Amino acid sequence: SLLTTLLVFWILAIGIAYFLSRSSMRPILASWNRQKQFSANAAHELRTPLTVIQNQMEYMLTKPKSQVIDQVEPISTSLDEVRHLQTLTNRLLTLARSDADIIQINRQSVNLQKWLEQLIKPYRDIAASQSKSLDDQIKVSVEGKLDPDLIRQLIIILLDNAIKYTPTGGTVTFAAEVVHESRLKLEVRDTGQGIADADKKHVFERFYRSDKSRNAKTGGNGLGLAIAQWVVKEHHGTITVKDNHPKGTTFTVVLPIK
Ligand code: ADP
Repeated sequence: SLLTTLLVFWILAIGIAYFLSRSSMRPILASWNRQKQFSANAAHELRTPLTVIQNQMEYMLTKPKSQVIDQVEPISTSLDEVRHLQTLTNRLLTLARSDADIIQINRQSVNLQKWLEQLIKPYRDIAASQSKSLDDQIKVSVEGKLDPDLIRQLIIILLDNAIKYTPTGGTVTFAAEVVHESRLKLEVRDTGQGIADADKKHVFERFYRSDKSRNAKTGGNGLGLAIAQWVVKEHHGTITVKDNHPKGTTFTVVLPIK
């Protein structure tokens, strides 16, 4: 009877292997692999800042108790890493929720001119604090229906990147207008390092960072544009990237708002 049991298991194993290899199972397997890759990448990204924080804390503990309070540098390095972890976990959570289909897009009527002006205001100071400038050209005289939380995230991702990848003295321009009466066109232009043609088709992939950005140690995580693309898809809009002239990058988003 042991032989029968083994035989049954063997037949079952062959059956399962055959079932898994059938073409109808391939998309499921591929998505399973993508999910595994996603978790591996996520764990890797989480580990780096945690190690830095651990090292800084351990270093502080080597100091006499009375001096620990004066350790400004390790504290500020750790705080930078904690902020980095915060952005990372928020973005991972957004993507995990989008995968699980548990975010409901919640369109609301928004006074776009006022809302956009308010939204970008703090970024003018953020740019200025890094000796860069942020110009705006917002000409939207209609109300629009969109999910303000998600579109805010999208705009912040594009502005953050434009400022981050533009060297000191550079300019970021945020433009908004209505096209074809029912579409909102947003454009974020910068005079920064630009994106090589070979990288353009990959920048919306999760965890993708160009070598140039990686080497520049700009502290990104390669998730921003993946979220941006998902937000745009939820709104049935489009997002495209092209060169800005004479240099830098332009991201264009077009969203239906009726
Ligand atoms: P990250 O957190 O690395 O910025 P993103 O998903 O937002 O992740 O962007 C992916 C990659 O696309 C970046 O690492 C960078 O190489 C490139 N990129 C995005 N925006 C710009 C930009 N405005 N200028 C130059 N490169 C950019």
